[in-house]
Amino acid sequence: WKNAPPNLRAVALLGKSHGSREFVIYEDERMTYDAWFRAVAKLAHEFQARGVEKGDRVALAMRNLPEWPVVFFAAVTIGAICVPLNAWWTGPELAYGLSDSGTKLLVCDEERWERIVAHRGECPDLETVFVARSEQPLEGAERLEDFIGAPPEYPDLPDGTLPSVEIVPEDDATIFYTSGTTGKPKGALGTHRNLCTNILSSGFGAGCAILRRGEAIPEPQPKTGLTVIPLFHVTACSAGLMGNLAAGNTMVYMYKWDPVEAFKIIEREKVTSTGGVPTIAWQLLEHPERKHYDLSSIEAIAYGGAPAAPELVRKIREVFGALPGNGWGMTETMATVTGHSSEDYLNRPDSCGPPVAVADLKIMSEDGTRELPVGEIGELWARGPMVVKGYWNNPEATAETFVDGWVRTGDLARLDEEGWCYIADRAKDMIIRGGENIYSSEVENVLYDHPAVTDAALIGLPHQQLGEEPAAVVHLAPGMEASEEELREWVGKRLAKFKVPVKIAFSEETLPRNANGKILKKELGSFF
Ligand code: ATP
Ligand code: MG
Repeated sequence: WKNAPPNLRAVALLGKSHGSREFVIYEDERMTYDAWFRAVAKLAHEFQARGVEKGDRVALAMRNLPEWPVVFFAAVTIGAICVPLNAWWTGPELAYGLSDSGTKLLVCDEERWERIVAHRGECPDLETVFVARSEQPLEGAERLEDFIGAPPEYPDLPDGTLPSVEIVPEDDATIFYTSGTTGKPKGALGTHRNLCTNILSSGFGAGCAILRRGEAIPEPQPKTGLTVIPLFHVTACSAGLMGNLAAGNTMVYMYKWDPVEAFKIIEREKVTSTGGVPTIAWQLLEHPERKHYDLSSIEAIAYGGAPAAPELVRKIREVFGALPGNGWGMTETMATVTGHSSEDYLNRPDSCGPPVAVADLKIMSEDGTRELPVGEIGELWARGPMVVKGYWNNPEATAETFVDGWVRTGDLARLDEEGWCYIADRAKDMIIRGGENIYSSEVENVLYDHPAVTDAALIGLPHQQLGEEPAAVVHLAPGMEASEEELREWVGKRLAKFKVPVKIAFSEETLPRNANGKILKKELGSFF
């Protein structure tokens, strides 16, 4: 492995070497690494037989099923570009993903197929569709099981080998779509090297294999990770799937996120790590049913992808005695760029960590012409082997975002003396009140510190003279009370007056989020 070239064929062979260890558990199904590899090899040959060639796009649209890593590796090991589509998308959105990527072959589950079928005419390049777990024959599609047999054990498949295809690290491997938090999702075109870098550099979280000074640290004990975020998001695929596969860990998938279901799984499977996004960690902490389960196997709870309240790290330590971790990344960086855990994180609870060993960060002026000194807030730029080449089919956005090997992240951040990074806001979300900048996370973190508040978001309301004014939407813990006046006073005692929300609205529900756990600020305007 030490000498393996950074490509996903090498990763697949590494996975094969874990043999009879359990790879994926889903409900009452258990798939070993051996069974997974047999299915990968068989499907890779089937893809080739269907005319899939190097560089062709193979899309994957399904919930987190054991078939997900089978399809993914069958595509990338023959040099095809795998396009994981957001399973939350509607029919027209899925058709957009298929036609934008020029997908030739699609593998999906029955639910996604039902959404796509009426829009097939909008996907001119789509030639072949395989549907997983379909009971009956389908019109216009074939059953995946007819080619690889029954998941998760694939008992009838022989031990196979991968078709021989030459792949170099700079070959394209994936198109992951961004979350679409600030606009239409863009397809980030990632290489084999981009995705493999994460295996080497993500030392935080799901018990990944940590390699230092070119030597593997003694054979790690196999761990069991509970994957609760969707695999179509790059974090779950790179930090989750790739990291666990490299280390020979077991992953447990869930039909759908549900905290009580998660407690049952953690107890039953002795899960050692979970997380993904901060909301998940909060829900595990605050659910009243938690106390009825034995969760003592949990060693690490790591997350990223969205701002985390500083209080979260302390609570994880207190309640679970587990190693908390936070990392920053974006689809354009195939996940992890910064990360820290344990004491480092406890000491800097408002930071997302220092850059991983192979990444560089810098803070630039808004116009991108000047690097700013330590401590000043500006736009975060990142560089390293995890940064993708550009966006699929979008040369303008590529030229704006990717400059001389750096990616302009669109996030506002500062670095401290030792290089730790602190995200202040997204540039698009920052509120300018009469010329004064207000960074959402500063105000949100103060609100989170209030004992009654469990969810908080700051947005800008239009104001004739000032341009914008800050307003907050909060959700209170069940049984807790706090008035608007009390919360405004709470913020006023801790932050400058211009940062105090002029209005605070209360949401009965937790705040609306997208599939990747990000609060949909665009939808909060209706509270005012
Ligand atoms: P779009 O680019 O389509 O608007 P998106 O930026 O939400 O969507 P992703 O690539 O999934 O799509 O998310 C990356 C963003 O998530 C980062 O730019 C940053 O704003 C946020 N983020 C990621 N990790 C962290 C973290 N640890 N702390 C705070 N914010 C984070
Ligand atoms: Mg983005």
